[in-house]
Amino acid sequence: MPYVVTQSCCSDASCVFACPVNCIHPTPDEPDFATAEMLYVDPDACVDCGACTTACPVDAIVPHTKLTTAQQPFLQINADFYKSAENLSRPRPTLAPVTRAPEAARSRDRLPLRVAIVGSGPAAMYAADELLTQPDVRVNVFDRLPTPGGLVRAGVAPDHQRTKKVTDLFDVIADQGGFRYFLNVAVPADVSHDALLDYHHAVVYAVGAATDRRLGVPGEELPGCSSATDFVAWYNGHPDHASRTYDLSGSRAVIVGNGNVALDVARVLTSSADRLSGTDISTHALDTLRGSAIEEVVLVARRGFAQSAFTVPEFVGLLEVPDVDVLLDAPDGALDELSAAAQRDGTLDHQTTQKLRMLAALPSYADRVPGRRRIVLRYLAAPTAILGTSRVTGVALAANELRVEDGSVVVAPTGTEDVIDAGLVLTSIGYHGVALDGLPFDDARGVIPNAAGRVLDGVGGDVLTGKYVAGWIKRGPTGFIGTNKTCAQETIRALVEDYNAGRLAEPSRRGAEKAVRTAQPALVTRDGWNAIDRVERARGEAEFRPRVKVTDRAELLALARAD
Ligand code: NAP
Repeated sequence: MPYVVTQSCCSDASCVFACPVNCIHPTPDEPDFATAEMLYVDPDACVDCGACTTACPVDAIVPHTKLTTAQQPFLQINADFYKSAENLSRPRPTLAPVTRAPEAARSRDRLPLRVAIVGSGPAAMYAADELLTQPDVRVNVFDRLPTPGGLVRAGVAPDHQRTKKVTDLFDVIADQGGFRYFLNVAVPADVSHDALLDYHHAVVYAVGAATDRRLGVPGEELPGCSSATDFVAWYNGHPDHASRTYDLSGSRAVIVGNGNVALDVARVLTSSADRLSGTDISTHALDTLRGSAIEEVVLVARRGFAQSAFTVPEFVGLLEVPDVDVLLDAPDGALDELSAAAQRDGTLDHQTTQKLRMLAALPSYADRVPGRRRIVLRYLAAPTAILGTSRVTGVALAANELRVEDGSVVVAPTGTEDVIDAGLVLTSIGYHGVALDGLPFDDARGVIPNAAGRVLDGVGGDVLTGKYVAGWIKRGPTGFIGTNKTCAQETIRALVEDYNAGRLAEPSRRGAEKAVRTAQPALVTRDGWNAIDRVERARGEAEFRPRVKVTDRAELLALARAD
């Protein structure tokens, strides 16, 4: 097998479009693309040309001869995808699918398309990229922080430096003529929605999901209990979270939920400080982790094995953390009847099959080695209370069982409960979007109501002219960095269609900068961000790290001004 897709796969499908023999699947036009945890190279069809490696923004595709020990499992994972009957019949045209960028009509009576994008994370940058495929289009990207990148800077785990390489692609996008950063500008606090529409034909909101879902059990407010999203923002040096403190003096931490964020946090809590010291983790977090007494991190899932929320590539990565054991603590019945039957019949989907295989191979919690750091996967347990008086001392867990009702798997409490001691409890049960003043909001889903990216005045309501959404604020907190590419493409297609149909009002012929500078004199432009970037990298070089993040907003602004 010549090339293999590995852990850092971001699923933006750049490789699919680069592959001349269409041997990477699922492709964006195949139904399982939306739910695929990664893409896979067909070992029999790959012609070893290497076009995919050049196209991949995160170095996820590796020749099989260059796989590291940690990457070896991906050889089998890629090959196994093509073993099932449905996958054997994947279409193999000579050319990979080509999606044409939408073409903005040009006319002497109208300004070329001008778009404001609010947010500067992956969804924003993929939207900008899609717009800038056309001549004369102008894209102004606004962010309330003085630094761009969204969750790539503040969310991706520090030990996932390959994933962060996607910022190289974003730099290439930002280097295109027609692109400008307007950083340290909050919308609508500094610049209103209407003001944006005065200077642009349209606004794309790509603001992500800035907060977390709440568990809703007693004790959640106790010191020592926090959301994983806050913890992630803290270790990643987000200026709004830099002043937090975490007490890691207890020997056990409990994380509620077992999605990829839970895995990220479990790795960071159990990794040696030496492993993390070569990353861009915030200095305050590194110092705290150096003094950590945590020996055991328990990931608590309310459902069973087959419903595990983590993805296969991330689980492979978890198993490879040096000097950390991954153990299983699960009651009988953690595999539901339906999944067990599908497993016996060989009809279980590829991803669940891989998860069950890897879980079955884990050592049991009963075999733990005292003194070694460990991550414990616990199943069929739901927190009913966070315990403690002045601070967290533990979690009460109700045992669950899986039942099949009307052909689907449901979870129900068995009536028994136990208590697990813990000095730190992190709830990792998903992000949640935050309403933007002046825009409609669907609170239940945490998204701005929309139809294929066009903002609606309410759920199922009418289109609000000139306003669009992309990324998590459009579809909810699901998918990977690259998922935002197809998401942004859909939005930009709708936007260009509206522009071409004359549905968007003509903006002022003047550029936005003067008005924005008046509203926010501390505006940070591309030059200002470059100045911050240079200082962070230089400080990093001195410490053999990719960068040392500046986490204080005033210092960030001073560095940007010094340019
Ligand atoms: P997630 O994947 O949606 O996982 C949420 C977890 O919380 C699930 O285990 C869920 O269990 C549990 N949960 C939800 N409500 C609960 C409740 N009331 N009580 C107990 N447990 C509850 O969310 P995430 O981990 O925050 O990740 C968000 C997205 O970012 C995902 O698409 C993820 O793949 C992506 N991400 C990717 C990477 C990467 O690729 N490296 C890294 C980080 C995040 P149920 O399934 O039972 O609801």
